[in-house]
Amino acid sequence: MKMPVLFVGHGSPMNAIEDNPFTRTLAGVRDKLPRPKAVCVVSAHWVTNGCHVLDVVWPKTIHDFYGFPRPLYEVQYPAPGAVTEAKRLAMEQHLLTDHQWGLDHGAWSVLRHLYPDADIPVFEVSLDHARTFAEHVALGKQMRPLRERGVLILGSGNLVHNLHKINWEMPQAAYPWAEEFDHKVKKAIAEHDVGSLSAPDRWGGSLLAEAHPTLEHYAPILYCLGSTDERDRVTYPYEGIEFGTISMRMTLFEPADA
Ligand code: ZN
Repeated sequence: MKMPVLFVGHGSPMNAIEDNPFTRTLAGVRDKLPRPKAVCVVSAHWVTNGCHVLDVVWPKTIHDFYGFPRPLYEVQYPAPGAVTEAKRLAMEQHLLTDHQWGLDHGAWSVLRHLYPDADIPVFEVSLDHARTFAEHVALGKQMRPLRERGVLILGSGNLVHNLHKINWEMPQAAYPWAEEFDHKVKKAIAEHDVGSLSAPDRWGGSLLAEAHPTLEHYAPILYCLGSTDERDRVTYPYEGIEFGTISMRMTLFEPADA
């Protein structure tokens, strides 16, 4: 059965251990998804030179953040690796295999709510910082066969992500430019407008630079776009902008025949 594709705006690492409307939405999404044979995560928190595929039998849980409460550092997500799928993707797409990385918080802070039993094999695909937006989409397109093999492709980033301009006094509100960027992305996703999403710098002014001073939280959606087409039904199970600058928009792409 062809699998859906899911993009999650992961927000704060604290979501890993919190019970809130966002984490409860993730649990609700699980109930809508067919149970995958494996999960392939494209996370904002694994940026490399060249594209790497995680080929590890038991990936370690990486606590790649600073200054958070201790319980967050004690979380383990002991899912097995999905080495067969990882090796196959690396071989077919001439990507590098990686035996050092594990699951970063972009992966486990979400997976913990999707699959709390950690019983579904997982691998990650890194973001090659040298790739253009169009090249990220192109690799996403090459990942389409994963869906046919029962692999859930999970993009984990944020559609608007500016940590420099975070405003703690605006927990539930957005700056106008954040709202505008989020709206444009939402519209382009709904229309499967890959051209627009591959060139958000053309959306005018300094909009992209404000929404994404660095691009790693934007790139994962391009893999979701590449691995889906206009026949996939798009819904947004969760949305909202936090602290002025972080879009928590979640996007689910489901095959039309599902
Ligand atoms: Zn992040």
